[in-house]
Amino acid sequence: MKEDSCIFCKIANGEIPSATIYEDEQFRVILDLGPASKGHALILPKEHFADVCALPETWAAKVLPLGAKIGAAMKQALGCSGFNLVQNNGASAGQTVFHFHMHVIPRYDDGAKIVTWTPKNPSQEELAQIAETIKSAL
Ligand code: 5GP
Ligand code: ZN
Repeated sequence: MKEDSCIFCKIANGEIPSATIYEDEQFRVILDLGPASKGHALILPKEHFADVCALPETWAAKVLPLGAKIGAAMKQALGCSGFNLVQNNGASAGQTVFHFHMHVIPRYDDGAKIVTWTPKNPSQEELAQIAETIKSAL
């Protein structure tokens, strides 16, 4: 299913032009308009799923292999030495377009730090308590 008001539905299905680097029956991979680094790409399913929780397993199973394929091609073609696969779910997590997408972000030696956080230092008790809390919802 597609959603009329969704820009990524329109891009994924070719109604809005994009710099496409890969396409098959289910996915289109495009360059991000606001790249974090040269070659930053987005893997878009051609059907509308709001986030990873809405993505069926049959689709989800294809996303990581596709991310690996795109990342390997970037290393060969762009000369990046690594890449990040990043996938945001929910506004608090940085999701701004509510159509599932996976970022493939090339990383270059001496390039800017892109995916980073400051580690906290929880106690073993805190970790055990948090683990139990999450397990209770699985
Ligand atoms: P999010 O923050 O939701 O994980 O990522 C959305 C990404 O989509 C951002 O990196 C943003 O630059 C990119 N983006 C938003 N609108 C467009 C668009 O119309 N075309 C392309 N190619 N990228 C877009
Ligand atoms: Zn959509």
